[in-house]
Amino acid sequence: MEVLRQLGLEETVWGHVPPSEHWRRFRYCTSLLGDDLAVMDHFRTEEFKFLGSLSPCRVAQLSQPILENILSEAANAAAESSGAKVLTGHIVQDLAPRSEDGGVNVTIRPTNGGPPTTVAAQYVVGADGTRSAVRRALGITSRGEHDMESFASIHFTSRELGKRLAKDRRGAMLSFVFSPDVLGVVVSHDLRRGDWVIHAPFFPPAQSLEDICGTEEACIEIIRQCCAPMSTHKGAEDDPLRDLELHSVRAWGMHATCATSFAGMGNRVFLAGDAAHQFPPSGGFGVNAGLVDAHNLVWKLAYTLQGKAGPSLLASYDLERRPVIEDALSVAVDNYRRGLLPARAMGLERNLVATAVSMLGQGGATLPWAGDLVSGMLTVGKQHLRSPALVKSRVKRVVEEDQDALPLLFPRTDKGFRYFPEAGGVARPASSPTSTPRDLSPSEFWLKPRLKRGTQTDIALGTSPGQALPHAWILERDSNLRLSTIDIISAQLPAYTLLYAMPSIWRPALETLHQKYGKAKTDRVLRGVALVPLQSPDGTTGDTGDFKEAVYVYEANSPWEQLREISERGALLVRPDGHIAAQLAGPSSSTPSASPRDLSHDILDVLEELELRINCN
Ligand SMILES: Cc1cc2nc3c(=O)[nH]c(=O)nc-3n(C[C@H](O)[C@H](O)[C@H](O)COP(=O)(O)OP(=O)(O)OC[C@H]3O[C@@H](n4cnc5c(N)ncnc54)[C@H](O)[C@@H]3O)c2cc1C
Repeated sequence: MEVLRQLGLEETVWGHVPPSEHWRRFRYCTSLLGDDLAVMDHFRTEEFKFLGSLSPCRVAQLSQPILENILSEAANAAAESSGAKVLTGHIVQDLAPRSEDGGVNVTIRPTNGGPPTTVAAQYVVGADGTRSAVRRALGITSRGEHDMESFASIHFTSRELGKRLAKDRRGAMLSFVFSPDVLGVVVSHDLRRGDWVIHAPFFPPAQSLEDICGTEEACIEIIRQCCAPMSTHKGAEDDPLRDLELHSVRAWGMHATCATSFAGMGNRVFLAGDAAHQFPPSGGFGVNAGLVDAHNLVWKLAYTLQGKAGPSLLASYDLERRPVIEDALSVAVDNYRRGLLPARAMGLERNLVATAVSMLGQGGATLPWAGDLVSGMLTVGKQHLRSPALVKSRVKRVVEEDQDALPLLFPRTDKGFRYFPEAGGVARPASSPTSTPRDLSPSEFWLKPRLKRGTQTDIALGTSPGQALPHAWILERDSNLRLSTIDIISAQLPAYTLLYAMPSIWRPALETLHQKYGKAKTDRVLRGVALVPLQSPDGTTGDTGDFKEAVYVYEANSPWEQLREISERGALLVRPDGHIAAQLAGPSSSTPSASPRDLSHDILDVLEELELRINCN
């Protein structure tokens, strides 16, 4: 959401978000209209309270196709205003390095069957999903846990069902259905539109998609059992599924994998999103991680193309993003195991079935009775569900009392990471497990210790290099508008920000740079922003001379006083993606007379260390 806020899209997104009452809970139930076994309200957790102080953005649920439309409209508008061309309806077939200038030739083919053509690119970003052709062309493999689980996903709509659940105040983002007849997870995309997807597990190669969803009738039967079995309503007129429309059925496999590198061809080609990493849905990290990949990469490409940066800037993409992703993957796998605990408490051992399938091996699993064996095991497992009272008390303990089932909010994973390329990784709390995912045997899978509770609120906020600029509420001095510190970083003008509390110290240094290189050139790399205490004379006086800088103020006792971690004489150099590049100490209070020239040298020294150049064409 913070990335979308920076792009000016936050309000548009909120225009589509359903009321939180419709999605703030996870339900564990016998069917959507049946009995609740347990309910987890994620707005009553420590993580939710903590998030409120961590970000100006609120948590939202939005279905992916709607978000993709919003992003695609924004991308088309940006392309139109900048003269760029968006080419759709083409498939990337292959890439080849170009010896003349180090660029990349990309072979593309129209999807309607025309002949292939070649595009001469300077840089390529492969955001082409799990089966990435770009990743394949680079010869990069993925490491981690492949084929953790397989699901049939059934997409359907029923407004009547949505209305009934909204009226009964039983809306939930996820409903885990456990009944002797069916096991499945029902995802509610929007109760108002009655838009749903059911994910029902199956066990290939002993079972296939056709075995469980081979006909329309079989799919409708699964939908009915998960949502509204006949026992939950009085006849056809009362049937909440009377307007049911089945849209699609497909199989998907769950993986927790990460590409061994996010860059190739000498940092001319990059991988982002699912092309670089595949998350299990447990945690909802997939889209978020892809957005942050892009947020990390695009300004680096712009700086490099404009000649403002040396090669280390683009090289930092892989060094920064991959460890963050590996850390998030370990959280997602932990979530997945946590998500199985309620079923386990009911005596449903998913892993026993998975172990039986793996014991049969590839050959054995295709024997005619292999599918029957799996169905038989599942039927035996589901017998426990015929004693709802016993099951209910066990599930309630895991979900509501111990809060040891699948969580929804992950402040540390989403917000608490720190880019730390020097150490080849991210700084992470000691309680975090080893990061690199790898294949685990079924017994290892369960024996691996789970993450400690509370890990997600264990974040050190601050302004060390690599950390995200922390959020605190501030005011824009001229308009008195209430903003966040993170709003200081503009997406419209991607430049580093020199953020200081004492303009009288830092303005002259910037003016020296303006005189040396010209204001326009300096501003393209680095702009000054003042964030001053409300009572400070620096905050209330007007700008000096030609120097126009944005001025923000913070009130007395603002959390910013602690969060900024530097003295009020210092300055922070913040990257265009909001991560801290450097802390500059400024003159000490005992030698306040450091000349503007000295400080401009300090700034230039830091820029040189970062391989950034103001003096470029
Ligand atoms: C069941 C399920 C539930 C999920 N739930 C969540 C969730 O709650 N939250 C969340 O954040 N994430 C979730 N995800 C993950 C999320 O859907 C993905 O992480 C996300 O779609 C990745 O976006 P992407 O753009 O990288 O890849 P994709 O969405 O796969 O897009 C890739 C694009 O590249 C195009 N393409 C492919 N090959 C080529 C080629 N050769 N040439 C040109 N174009 C090509 C494709 O047509 C497509 O448009 C879920 C995933 C699944 C399966």
